[in-house]
Amino acid sequence: MNYFQFLKKKRYAIPTVFTAFILILNLIKHPFVYYLPFDIPGKQMASTIPPFGIFIESKYQNENSNEPCSLIKHEMVHWEQYKRMGLISFHYNYLKCYINSGRVNNWMEEEARMPCKLKSR
Ligand SMILES: [Zn+2]
Repeated sequence: MNYFQFLKKKRYAIPTVFTAFILILNLIKHPFVYYLPFDIPGKQMASTIPPFGIFIESKYQNENSNEPCSLIKHEMVHWEQYKRMGLISFHYNYLKCYINSGRVNNWMEEEARMPCKLKSR
């Protein structure tokens, strides 16, 4: 059986195409930024979901992106963490931090808040 015959079996094709899609997205080192026209549930205003991109509530669209306390600066630090750690490791570590230290006081969030902290010093 060659590879195309293998792919024709749908139960293999779907995970294979999905994996290929993720791998291609993983090559993109610059994130897509999406502005969501709805509220992200909870207190969250934005979310970085590698390899898909950065999702920000559209009411924050007019923020100055050079401002160190802006959401986009914060989320870009998470994107840098993803580039540094890789896809699996980023999600694994984020989940681990989230479970052990909560959403706000874990080192990955501390690091993402650094640009803002440095400014206010
Ligand atoms: Zn964050």
